[in-house]
Amino acid sequence: MCDDGTMTDRRAPAEKSWTPLTEAGRGLLDAVAADPGSVLLALDFDGTLAPIVDDPADSAMAEESRHAMSRMDGKLAIMAIVTGREVAAVRRMTSVDEVPGLEHLVVLGQYGVERYDAASGALRDPEVPESIRIAKGRLEQLIDELAQHDPRDAGCRIEDKGRAVALHTRRAADPAHALTTAVPRVRQIAEELGLHCEDGRNIIELKSAVTTKAQALRELIDEVTPRVVIMCGDDLGDVPALDVISEWIGQGHPGARVVSYSDEQPSMADHADIICDQTEGISAFLEALADQVCSTK
Ligand SMILES: [Mg+2]
Repeated sequence: MCDDGTMTDRRAPAEKSWTPLTEAGRGLLDAVAADPGSVLLALDFDGTLAPIVDDPADSAMAEESRHAMSRMDGKLAIMAIVTGREVAAVRRMTSVDEVPGLEHLVVLGQYGVERYDAASGALRDPEVPESIRIAKGRLEQLIDELAQHDPRDAGCRIEDKGRAVALHTRRAADPAHALTTAVPRVRQIAEELGLHCEDGRNIIELKSAVTTKAQALRELIDEVTPRVVIMCGDDLGDVPALDVISEWIGQGHPGARVVSYSDEQPSMADHADIICDQTEGISAFLEALADQVCSTK
């Protein structure tokens, strides 16, 4: 419905600000003001709360967004960062434990596998499953076998990703040949150990579980049974979680998909009830939300 030229103009967010695009977006602030304590606010981190930087290790939350979030802290049903990053990285990049203001923040890391509740200090950081440890040993064995049987397959490497383990063929004598040889063997290991298998460019990866931001968001909804649900995101990886909000709105509940929009990912406009001019627009939106939350008691 948004593919004609006139709609394209309307979809552009105001500079450093935010613009509602749909009925749900236009009604959001009133819905929040009616009862802030029943609002679930979920936020992606990179590109939404933290501007994208060259080295992801240097990422930090925008100060303006932190300020707005601290105004809402403890006043909502739940305010949570939902990210693919590890909880430890987000705790550092938000300064949640050092700087006052976010004492009730919840962080769902690694797409919800990890969880940190700032209020209680509770940390969910599950052990690496035994199947992944076994898989790592089997892949190491496989690498030796590949090198012995065909010199073109020599030079594969293992990457230990914690709850996943990957075999890389990039450094093999013939990466494409090595991948072709390795894939069926790795798939067999996955099947035997009950693991998920994902292959990409010169890589095949084994994972113990397939988790997504959508699952993480559903977990929060089940937990707090909110009246209003808001999800803020910026990238294709956020779309399944934004679709959870569409479903929610479709069932007649108030809520909004809030998109941190940049020209790098124009299709994200199709998933927005409220469109924001990158992380600065998100900050402006969060301030407006905080104004609503703080104006009602
Ligand atoms: Mg992001």
